[in-house]
Amino acid sequence: MAGAKFLALLALVAFVFVALVPGTVVAWGADGHHSTCLLAESMLEPATVKAVRSLLPEYANGSLASLCTWPDDIKWMYKWHWTHAIHYIDTPDFLCRYNYDRDCHDADGRQDYCASGAINNYTSQLTKFELPPPNLITTKVRETQYNLTEALLFLAHIVGDIHQPLHVGFTNDAGGNTIILHWYRRKANLHHVWDNEFINRAKDLYYNGSLAIMTTAILNNITDNWVGEAKLWSECSDGAIACPDVYATESIRLACQYAYRNATPGSTLGDDYFLSRLPIVEARLAQGGVRLAAILNRLFGNSSQPILSH
Ligand SMILES: [Zn+2]
Repeated sequence: MAGAKFLALLALVAFVFVALVPGTVVAWGADGHHSTCLLAESMLEPATVKAVRSLLPEYANGSLASLCTWPDDIKWMYKWHWTHAIHYIDTPDFLCRYNYDRDCHDADGRQDYCASGAINNYTSQLTKFELPPPNLITTKVRETQYNLTEALLFLAHIVGDIHQPLHVGFTNDAGGNTIILHWYRRKANLHHVWDNEFINRAKDLYYNGSLAIMTTAILNNITDNWVGEAKLWSECSDGAIACPDVYATESIRLACQYAYRNATPGSTLGDDYFLSRLPIVEARLAQGGVRLAAILNRLFGNSSQPILSH
């Protein structure tokens, strides 16, 4: 009997844990981040590749994409709790607009602690980077660059997040996290649908279950069909290295136009919703990749553009 009670308690604890966790997820899922970073990596110029590799830890084997989810992995640790707020931006309910001074703060009201503030901050930190002379790449040099390694990983991750429309969502529903509905037959929250379910379903239906094939298809679209657009996506006015206010403004507009529309609590999202919104998801992954590449090329390379050929 005691055993049965213990099992029941265990089941309850497991249920509460599972019930709570989806509500607190605030990021493109791992696939969205991998895809954004893989796209960006394919558009870096040689000098940028060199700088990025010098900042990555050995175990990354030169792959930025392999560490693009690092900020999600560590945000649960006490030391990194403060970073939760930099994955997203809360905007006023139903306004469908973003304003840096009004919206870029954390739950305690600390200014600049949001996704766009973080992109500005880490971009600015990375302007201090200097490639160490080859004969001086020692443990000592790597130690002094450790913060810039973190800056690079946060930048790569958050440029992805800010392109997920519901990462710039309404305050009261936490970017769709508290909107509980059905994704086909399964219960889900709207934020999770945009973080994970679109990419999962598209991957399975059209790309043989492979994120690599899906990412290659998006890259082919960028280089074959969207070259003109991609050049515009990559640019910032007034010569800025990154322009996160532009990315955030686009996201909240897309959130209102596509993500929130017809996705009220209790509704069921099926083929109509999936098929009409998937192009938005793929375009946002593409824009995230193009812009991350452009930012890194402006920081570390000689060009202000992503390399749009492969
Ligand atoms: Zn995130």
